[in-house]
Amino acid sequence: MAKRKEILDCSFCGKKKSETNLLIAGLDAHICDRCIEQAHGIVLEEVQAGESETKDLSAELVLKIPKNIKTFLDQYVIGQNQTKRVMSVAVYNHYKRLLQPPSKNDNDVEIEKSNIIMVGETGTGKTLIVKTIARMLDVPFAIVDATVLTEAGYVGEDVETILTRLLQAADYDVKKAEKGIVFIDEIDKIARKTANPSITRDVSGEGVQQALLKLLEGTVVNVPPKGGRKHPDQKFTQINTQNILFIAGGAFDGIERVISKRLNMQAVGYSASISDDKVDTENLLQYVIPKDLKDFGLIPEIIGRLPVLTYMFPLDAKTLRSILTEPKNSIIKQYTKLFAMDKITLTFDEKSLQYIVNKAVEYKLGARGLRSLCENILTDAMFELPGTDTKSLKITEKYVIDKLTVSKLKKLKVVS
Ligand code: ADP
Repeated sequence: MAKRKEILDCSFCGKKKSETNLLIAGLDAHICDRCIEQAHGIVLEEVQAGESETKDLSAELVLKIPKNIKTFLDQYVIGQNQTKRVMSVAVYNHYKRLLQPPSKNDNDVEIEKSNIIMVGETGTGKTLIVKTIARMLDVPFAIVDATVLTEAGYVGEDVETILTRLLQAADYDVKKAEKGIVFIDEIDKIARKTANPSITRDVSGEGVQQALLKLLEGTVVNVPPKGGRKHPDQKFTQINTQNILFIAGGAFDGIERVISKRLNMQAVGYSASISDDKVDTENLLQYVIPKDLKDFGLIPEIIGRLPVLTYMFPLDAKTLRSILTEPKNSIIKQYTKLFAMDKITLTFDEKSLQYIVNKAVEYKLGARGLRSLCENILTDAMFELPGTDTKSLKITEKYVIDKLTVSKLKKLKVVS
């Protein structure tokens, strides 16, 4: 009997019965009150972790509903409402796709990737929209220029280097990179030169489109982590592109002709969907359809892998005026901040802003020109004023005219 008493201790922590408040007996073991408490804590943590995992996923999805994405975009991108809506939906669907659990059987509906293609003049905000979305989603983001890409074996960059950039943006974290966004700019520059497939090799056009296909579709690619040409001794990183969102953009110079031709033909034929009087000839891009891209020289396979097609409006004077001051980090806000750091209050009167806009329109500089104009206007002040007693600077139309005339003269002097 005395012997039996000796073995009464907690089977988990080994404490003797006398050292515990309570020792509960099971079939072959005992457990003390402290161990019960600890075990209960562990069970609670596990349950909560499981709950928060499902909560996190749905909370994340709620944050990214299209309306929220669009509201975020509105803070940075002026106008382009149609594209902002289309992109918000595409990105939301992309996220839904990422959240779907791996399919267990063949009958599961699998959501396919919806890469995007944007058609719009240069400087209308294509890059800005993509950058802003990447910032909102906090995912790695890389911009690549399609013009530098060539078919493997030719002078230029292999298409795999697109992923090198993304890997670098993700600090070489492959998992992060595999959920990133890639913006392929100037996709129109790799269109084949004629609509007919060429018999000769087309190094920079169709060949590159073919090489891009696999990447867009989703495949495991051997990526040279430091970029450059592939060579046999190099170590590769394997990246799966299945969940990478590709967004392509291009100006597609001259595509209006293709669209207009198609619209005219439609108007003549019985299948006219847009009657002549309703066509907004000022901005034909809004009628773009995948077939126009094919006629422009993109191969049908590429178009098929960029199923979301959207367009940008050209920027008119009113939009340019808004771009100057309205976005969260507008150009004027940026200069005001720069001056404020020198304790100088910078202000612009309305006429001066209008003048800047008119010059940007006159020189066909678009939104990109706004910055260079402002830079020309403010460089002297940014040089002269720091370190002086000046507390404020008011920019008037006269000030703008003076500075722009001087900077023009300076440029003329450099040229002569
Ligand atoms: P794209 O990629 O179409 O050539 P960007 O996105 O690079 O044009 O635009 C160039 C610059 O012009 C941007 O940095 C931004 O400051 C400004 N910009 C262009 N479009 C807009 C817009 N719709 N709203 C706000 N800023 C714009």
